[in-house]
Amino acid sequence: MVTAATASAPLIDGLGRRISYLRISVTDRCDLRCRYCMAERMQFLPKNQVLTLEEIALLADLFVQRGIRKIRLTGGEPLVRRDFMDLARRIGRHLGNGLDELTLTTNATRLADHAMALVDAGVRRVNISLDTRDPDRFAHVTRGGDLAAVLRGIEAARCAGLAIKINMVALRGINEDEILSMLRWCDDQGFDLSLIETMPLGDTGDDRTSHYLPLTHVVQQIETRHRLAPIAHRTGGPSRYHAVDGMRARLGLISPLTNNFCADCNRIRLTCEGKIFMCLGHEDHVDFKSALREGGVDAVQPLVDQALRLKPAAHDFRIGAGLGAATRRHMSVTGG
Ligand code: SAM
Ligand code: SF4
Repeated sequence: MVTAATASAPLIDGLGRRISYLRISVTDRCDLRCRYCMAERMQFLPKNQVLTLEEIALLADLFVQRGIRKIRLTGGEPLVRRDFMDLARRIGRHLGNGLDELTLTTNATRLADHAMALVDAGVRRVNISLDTRDPDRFAHVTRGGDLAAVLRGIEAARCAGLAIKINMVALRGINEDEILSMLRWCDDQGFDLSLIETMPLGDTGDDRTSHYLPLTHVVQQIETRHRLAPIAHRTGGPSRYHAVDGMRARLGLISPLTNNFCADCNRIRLTCEGKIFMCLGHEDHVDFKSALREGGVDAVQPLVDQALRLKPAAHDFRIGAGLGAATRRHMSVTGG
């Protein structure tokens, strides 16, 4: 039975970790095909398997009521979902009333058209994925993407007053020689930069192992030019930040392979199919969609507590020849 107490009980997992951050994948679809993320001929989910925007909004309401303080909308590419902005506005109504922050992760191809509306919805910060500033490399990594559109999107976001963090997946043999220049560019532009280790999620038809670049190695390279010092700055996610000698830009490291931070993980993920995953790297999940469609929000409440019990101590990502993907799901389904 759902009582007022369960409906407002805080989200604490079996290891005592307080869950306060929800990432929502609003669609598995995307207008790019980044080699480390998706297969070239990606099979997307049929529409009836994907939560409607109304269903996503109802689940967001429930989670804010249960103590979620930060929501990140992601995907797939969130801005390709029709009427996405209605959802952002709807969730944005919780800001200052339970919700501290609403953010977005985007590839920025369509950001030029949406930056102002995001600000109006209450978004103040965006993470923008940009693995290279070279147009040919960009087309290679994204399998056909147009860098100019992304740069227009970034400029529009800046003009709209959004704080910007660039996410760059570190890829051996693809962009490793560009990391320092990306950091300097971010510094010039007033952005922060997070570097990400490629994670073994879903089959992409590409060889992730040969492009895997440990951030321990990248840090050594950067430190030959700039001293790095760990700082306490946090944005609620997995990035651990460093001050860079001589720069304003902060350097974030997302290093699930070489240095995971699972011990103080505060995140859960709602997939576009309505499944709650307590960990990006595990298959365990609870299906909210059927419960919601059959019994409404009240039927979902007990499942929240069931999900909390499933949160593992840590992911066990390993990358290497012959190891394959840790999950069949791609990052785009679970929400990066
Ligand atoms: N389409 C949006 C974008 O690219 O920003 C949002 C979704 S994307 C899945 C979110 C983040 O996950 C991006 O920064 C992307 O680079 C990262 N990502 C995707 N697949 C990854 C993988 N296998 N390993 C590490 N990062 C990955
Ligand atoms: Fe699309 Fe983002 Fe995945 Fe690239 S990383 S294919 S932009 S969802």
